[in-house]
Amino acid sequence: MTTHERPLDSVLETIGRTPLVRVHDGPDEVRIYAKLESFNPGASVKDRIGRYMLERMLEREEISPGGTVIEPTAGNTGIGLAIAAQQLGLEAIFVVPERFSVEKQQLMDALGAEIINTPTDAGMGGAIDRAHELAAELDDAVVPQQFSNPLNTEAHYETTAPEIYDALDGEVGAVVAGCGTAGTLMGLARYALEVHDDTHVGAVEPHGSLYGELLGDDREEGEYKIEGIGTHDTDTNELFDPGLVDAVYSVSDREAHDELRRLAREEGHLVASSAAAASVAAKRVARSIADGKLETPHETVVTVFPDSSERYLSKEIYRSFEAWSS
Ligand code: PMP
Repeated sequence: MTTHERPLDSVLETIGRTPLVRVHDGPDEVRIYAKLESFNPGASVKDRIGRYMLERMLEREEISPGGTVIEPTAGNTGIGLAIAAQQLGLEAIFVVPERFSVEKQQLMDALGAEIINTPTDAGMGGAIDRAHELAAELDDAVVPQQFSNPLNTEAHYETTAPEIYDALDGEVGAVVAGCGTAGTLMGLARYALEVHDDTHVGAVEPHGSLYGELLGDDREEGEYKIEGIGTHDTDTNELFDPGLVDAVYSVSDREAHDELRRLAREEGHLVASSAAAASVAAKRVARSIADGKLETPHETVVTVFPDSSERYLSKEIYRSFEAWSS
C-alpha cells in the first residue's frame, strides 16, 4: 500500500500512496490515523495536486508543452507544481506572499521555478491578483489557481481518499483536515459522504481565521502563526462547501505548538503546525465520539499531516512558544 516495490521511471510516480499511521494520544476506544504527506517527493500533500492539475490541464489542452504555469502559493503548492511542471515540460512562476518560509522558496528555485514575492499585507488576495496580471502579459500561460480549481478537490477525491478507505477497509467514522484552499478536506468529504452520508466532516482552522463564519459560527479575525491553513477573506476560498462540513474546529497557536512538540517527542512525527492543528482537532472529535456526544458510522477518525517541520526550522518551530510566535 505505501511502498513502491518496482523500479519507477520518474519521480512523478512516487507521488501518493503515503503511509497512514496511528496517533496514540486519543481515547482508547477511538482510533485516530494520520496520512503522512511528507512522504511525497516534494515532501508535502501538494505534490498530489501539482501532478493532477497539470496532467489534466495538458489533456484538456488548456496549456501546451513549453507553456508557463503561474500560481499564487504559500510554498508547498509551488514545490508540487514545480516538480510536475519540470517533468511535464512546462515553465513555472510562483507568486508568494513574503511571510512564508524561505525554505520553500529555496526549494522552488532549486527545482527551476521563478519566484515573485508580494507584500505580506496584501495577503493571498494580493498574490492571486499579481498571478493573473502576469498571465495576461505572457503567451500560453495558465494560472491553475488552487483556490478555485475543482481539480484541486478532485485530486484528493481520486487519490488521497481512496488510499485512506482502502487502508481502513472503509471503516472511517470522521474525516478531519486543515483548510487552506480546502481542497484536501473537500476531496475527502465528498468521497466519505458517498460511502456513508453520516460520516463526520470536520474542518480545522487557526484561531483568528474566518472559515467558521461560513457555518454561522462567531469568529474574531486575528493574526496566527500556524502556517498553510485558515483564511481572512472567505471570498477567495471558493472550494469550501459549507454544505459538506459538520463543524469547523478552531485551534490556537499555543495548542498547535504544544502538539507539534508532543508529536515529535512522543510519536516521532516531525510535522509542522498545520499537522499539529489537525491532530488537536482530530483528538477533540475522537473525545466527542468516546463521550457519546458524536455518533459516527465507525469509531475511527482520519486526518492528514500535510508536511514536515524541517521546512520551518528557520522559524524556530521547536523552540519555546514565545520564540516561535514572536
Ligand atoms: N498545511 C500546509 C502546510 C499547507 O501548505 C496547506 C496548503 N495551503 C494546507 C495545510 C491546507 O491544504 P488545502 O489547501 O488542501 O486546504
